[in-house]
Amino acid sequence: MRVHAIQTGVLQIKSAHRTLRGPEALRFPSILLDPTYTEPLPIYTWVIEHPEGLIVVDTGESAATATPDYFACDPVWANLQRWAGFIRFQVTPEHEIGPQLQRLGLSPNDVRWVILTHLHTDHGGGLSYFPKADIVVGRQEYEGHRQRPLGAIPCRWPSWFAPHLIDYPHSPVWPFPGAYRLTQAGDVHIVPTPGHSYGHQSLILQTHDVAYFFAGDTSFSEQQLQAKGLAGIVHDPRQARQTLQYINDYVELIPTVYLPSHDPEAGRRLAERRTVVECGC
Ligand SMILES: [Zn+2]
Repeated sequence: MRVHAIQTGVLQIKSAHRTLRGPEALRFPSILLDPTYTEPLPIYTWVIEHPEGLIVVDTGESAATATPDYFACDPVWANLQRWAGFIRFQVTPEHEIGPQLQRLGLSPNDVRWVILTHLHTDHGGGLSYFPKADIVVGRQEYEGHRQRPLGAIPCRWPSWFAPHLIDYPHSPVWPFPGAYRLTQAGDVHIVPTPGHSYGHQSLILQTHDVAYFFAGDTSFSEQQLQAKGLAGIVHDPRQARQTLQYINDYVELIPTVYLPSHDPEAGRRLAERRTVVECGC
């Protein structure tokens, strides 16, 4: 089974977005007022060539973010970008997931499942390439953003977007409290990893010797996971801490290649199949 990393450009976020600074209650104003940015961080998506069908985890970002109009349809985003320079995107048309799949010899039309870890714009920006796929989103994630979008841009969702909403009814994957079994073979599960957003989820692919943990934005790096350090951009800090604890417990027991979306080391770890090792931190 082959697993590919596809990097759909880079973004820069405020330093206080990556790492919580000061009191939790003031985390959002801290991000907005922070004048400093991180280095450019990758926007990763992942493709699994599974015997039961192609699985894509997240769709990355769109090159249209380079045009100010992209955000104009959403007043919150328009203001965040205009007045706070919330996120700097660098995505070209060649970076988008569709053309990159083609370069791997894969067609977006052949993708069976698109699993969205969550609905933030840099994970759903490539949705338009997948009108034929079964798009899988956590129910709480979708319903939360329908009521009050936070980081998602629903006015940029394709008109046909009607995702398959899931709960986690199958046998839990320890220590996560629930799981959704995606494949008949039982080697791919989706587990709830809330905290970063309303109903963030992660995908686990178990192979004969290692597990691949497609982590979305549960942390910005492996170090942040191991240090159990909160990011600044968390929707629910208590849930985010619990999620970091569950993932740490999981990787302690199962040799795991940990793959967050914006970790500069994630592509290399995948290529080398490098598992999380105890850091003593
Ligand atoms: Zn996010």
